[in-house]
Amino acid sequence: MIKIADLHKSYAMGQNSLHVLKGINFDVAAGEMVAIMGSSGSGKSTLLNILGMLDVADQGTYNLDGATIKDLDETKAAVYRNKFLGFVFQSFNLISYKTALENVMLPLYYQKVARKERIARAQKFLEQVGLGPWASHHPNELSGGQKQRVAIARALVSEPKVILADEPTGALDSKTSYELMDVLQTINDQGITLLIVTHEEDIAKMCKRIVHLRDGVIVTDEKVKQVKAIQHVE
Ligand code: ADP
Ligand code: MG
Repeated sequence: MIKIADLHKSYAMGQNSLHVLKGINFDVAAGEMVAIMGSSGSGKSTLLNILGMLDVADQGTYNLDGATIKDLDETKAAVYRNKFLGFVFQSFNLISYKTALENVMLPLYYQKVARKERIARAQKFLEQVGLGPWASHHPNELSGGQKQRVAIARALVSEPKVILADEPTGALDSKTSYELMDVLQTINDQGITLLIVTHEEDIAKMCKRIVHLRDGVIVTDEKVKQVKAIQHVE
């Protein structure tokens, strides 16, 4: 699904440059659920943003579902993002003046889906994350966990193959985090590939593979026995 080789990324820092990713080699097969760990500043978000085509690498190759991602103009990149990828962020990134349903409908608007179908599909995915009854509520009427479920429904509504989540439980307490991981595990069970950045060991263990970044390189990359989140919810 994802193949990257010898990926490098630097940021300009005045006269100097900060070498953040120093040759990352990494393959993810369809159906995997991968945790990306590492201390703050180790390049986790930079890597995820490159995988999500929100940023570009300086060097290296990136292959997504058989297509080489390189020198794409913004229009083509947007097509790939819509077709393959969904995003979930630590801070939810919901639009405050839109309802839960309208937030989930929004990606379909950009894909020119008719309004009736936008409503039906958004409602279906809100129900999937357990928020059917909350469709007409605004983000400020929802808890953190509920907001993140809306964000997950919004990521799912385009029916992506891969969901990229950058510290999705970073703003949530433990119980709410485990409930959210249960939602993500269910999505993975349905065949969607998940990459989850986290610095929490217990969250990482709810994935099927843990990759550690340090000083711009992958230092460990191991398959693990997945802990089922539901067992930690009750
Ligand atoms: P992490 O997500 O692991 O905390 P990041 O990928 O966000 O790390 O950042 C890695 C390093 O790159 C940090 O030192 C950060 O300050 C720097 N960095 C990230 N984005 C930029 C940017 N747009 N411009 C300059 N430096 C950046
Ligand atoms: Mg980060």
